[in-house]
Amino acid sequence: MKIAVLTSGGDAPGMNACVRAVVRSTINYGYEAYGVFDGYKGLVEGKIRKLDRNDVGQILNRGGTILGSSRLESFKEKEVRQVAVDNLKALGIDNLVVIGGDGTFRGAMALNDMGINCIAVPGTIDNDIASTEFTIGFFTALDTAIDAIDKLRDTSFSHQRCTVVEVMGRNCGDLSIFSGIACGAEIVITKDTGYNEEEILRQVQRAQNMGKRHLIVVVAEHITDVSKLAKKIQDNSGYEARATVLGYIQRGGTPSAFDRILASKMGVHAVDLLTEGKGGFAIYTKSLDVGHIEINEALTKEVKPSDLYKYLSKLN
Ligand code: ADP
Repeated sequence: MKIAVLTSGGDAPGMNACVRAVVRSTINYGYEAYGVFDGYKGLVEGKIRKLDRNDVGQILNRGGTILGSSRLESFKEKEVRQVAVDNLKALGIDNLVVIGGDGTFRGAMALNDMGINCIAVPGTIDNDIASTEFTIGFFTALDTAIDAIDKLRDTSFSHQRCTVVEVMGRNCGDLSIFSGIACGAEIVITKDTGYNEEEILRQVQRAQNMGKRHLIVVVAEHITDVSKLAKKIQDNSGYEARATVLGYIQRGGTPSAFDRILASKMGVHAVDLLTEGKGGFAIYTKSLDVGHIEINEALTKEVKPSDLYKYLSKLN
């Protein structure tokens, strides 16, 4: 059996950890692992190379993707995908793990329909894939956003400012709401809350009336021009206001512990499915739900060992 792996769409921290997991667990099954370079574009151009265990050494902690990524609009056309399928078949590969966002998933589904067993692993900082609670890269991007907002807070407090911060997330508000909660933002504006300027100005006023020395407003990207919003707030309140767009720093950097572990588990699971002859599946994780039980009952429960042990032998 031969299993190939590619990364596609926007890069996300933890993609490398997943590539490593796919390659290592494939080899540990006694099968051959292949890397496709530069996503679907590389698949069409035949940039496919056999990988050994050491090719994925020293990448677990690296951001971005060593395989490279790209966007190829024409991959939506069947004739273009046929070239990709032919390239894989010529090497005797009919199993593929793709790591990316929802566009990447659509490509995987289309390839699966053309006879390549595909497993789609959610890798995007945006957390905008409905089938999984969290995507690889989301929590690292969140940590980066939190770190930046914490730094902005220092100046915000010192100068009694209203600090308006634009956070990434494409059309998904998760990075904004999660960072807003984690940073104690007074106002968070996303597609879900809607953009109502009068209401925002009212909330700023309320914060001022409560005696808040400064405030943080987190805005998801594509909602509004944050510089214009900051000016509006300054003109209509006692706060001096400044806008900051966090931008691409949120996409890079060392993956967090959570993302490394999630990526490793997802990569192993993807290969397990392919070895069982299963294709056309998307990997997911859940959940961070909060609930409650009687303290009595909590104390009678035994601490269960983590199931991570079973992954260790597959990842080395
Ligand atoms: P992401 O995977 O992060 O959402 P994109 O939306 O850019 O990123 O998608 C990545 C790539 O997936 C696209 O450049 C294209 O090659 C491929 N793709 C997207 N949509 C489709 C589709 N409907 N059919 C086939 N391939 C697609």
